[in-house]
Parts: sequence; C-alpha cells; structure tokens
Amino acid sequence: MLKIIPVPAFTDNYLWLLHLEGSNQAYVVDPGDAAPIEEALKQHGLELAGIMVTHHHGDHTGGIKKLTENRSIPVYGPDSPNISTITLPLKEGDSLSIGGNTEFKVFEVPGHTLDHIAYHSPADAALFCGDTLFAAGCGRMFEGEPRQMQASLAKLASLPKETEVYCAHEYTLANLKFAQAVEPDNETLQARVKQAEQVRASGGFTVPSVLGMELDTNPFLRVHTPSVIESANRQEPNEVNEPWQVFAVLRRWKDNF
Ligand code: ZN
Ligand code: FE
Repeated sequence: MLKIIPVPAFTDNYLWLLHLEGSNQAYVVDPGDAAPIEEALKQHGLELAGIMVTHHHGDHTGGIKKLTENRSIPVYGPDSPNISTITLPLKEGDSLSIGGNTEFKVFEVPGHTLDHIAYHSPADAALFCGDTLFAAGCGRMFEGEPRQMQASLAKLASLPKETEVYCAHEYTLANLKFAQAVEPDNETLQARVKQAEQVRASGGFTVPSVLGMELDTNPFLRVHTPSVIESANRQEPNEVNEPWQVFAVLRRWKDNF
C-alpha cells in the first residue's frame, strides 16, 4: 500500500510523494522542482527509488535532472520526444509495478499535451492524472483536439467512483466558479463550493478529490447531462449535442472565463 504525501511547489503545484509502506522507499510523481522533494524525503526519512512523469511541461519535469544526478533510479513516463530524461517509456495498457507490490495501470490521455499519460492504482484507489483532470475542472487543451481530450476524460471517468483524484494543481475554487456558471442549479455543486471554501480558508488542500464527486459536479465530465448541454448551447448557439462538441464549447468558455 501507498502512503501519499503532498509536496506543494511553485504557487499551486502538488508534487506527489508515494511512500511504499513498510519500507523507506518513495517514488515521486511529476517532480517539477527538486528542492522541495529533497526536503520532504529528509523530513520523512525516505529514499527516492524512482520517478513517474505524466507529461512534458516544466512544472512537472523540472526537477528530474537534479534528482537523478547522484541516484541511479528509473524515470517512468510517456514515450515522448519532449522528455529526454525518461529511462522507461510507458504506453496505454502498460502495467507499472513499484516496490514489488504496488501496481499501476497506464492510460494515454492526450489533450492537454499529446504525450500525457495517467497512472491508476486499483488497490490504492488512486489516480495520478497530472493536468488532464482537475478537481472540478480539466487542463487547458494546449496540444490536442476536443474529441481527443473528451475521450481522455471519459476514460478516467469510467474508473471506480471511489477513486481518489491526485491532480497536479490547486485550481479548485476557480474551477468551481466556472462549474457554477455552467450549472447554477446543481445542489451537490453548491455544497462542494461551501466545503472547498472552508478547506482553503483554513489553509487545507482540496486535492485529492473523489471521482464520484467529480462525476456529480465537474462540468467537463458531465457533457452528457441535459443541463450542461443546455448551458453549452446557450453559450454558443449552434445546437451541439455530441459529448465532444459540448466539451469543446465548455473548454472555450472556460478559457475566457
Ligand atoms: Zn501541464
Ligand atoms: Fe502543470
């Protein structure tokens, strides 16, 4: 089993330290910066045994060089020309076993970037999805197409509802504001906003979230829902119905929100 330790970095990133319980070994997901990881390793008395990367952006990869300077550890990640530090490239359907007993399934989730992958541990009910799915939102579509990114999100949405969503940024309050603009009458969403505001006011983290809550409140996962489709069509009146078309409208709307 994993003990998952959040390591805040930059202004709103979470680097995730995965402590393999019963050992002093840890893996890190998306080390955008080396210093806070070194500090967390020291603080918890852990040794870094490997690195897992979701996509090529600097705030997810910037610490890899330093962390591997004096360590010979595996660096897992997408098979991407944009990340030269990957030693063990992964693709859709691959299984990744760390520490002998924790198993991740790998999903390709293009859209935010074309090389984006996500890691799901069924035993730990944990999903590491980088900048694809956020709490109450999703990543900007820098490289992909709407059809592609909506399919990626749908893939993640089909995981068990109790899955904890370890995304890479604390964007939740801003995402929730947009979600409320899309679904002003969603009561579960109102309750989530109240709860998230309280958490942030007391200095807490809103991540991880739970996938079931995302399904009920995250507009980007609710592109099949009549109220969301209606909102999209009010925003851009061109009668869209297909989930990926609804997604495209929502993503454009959010980009300028
Ligand atoms: Zn990114
Ligand atoms: Fe990022």
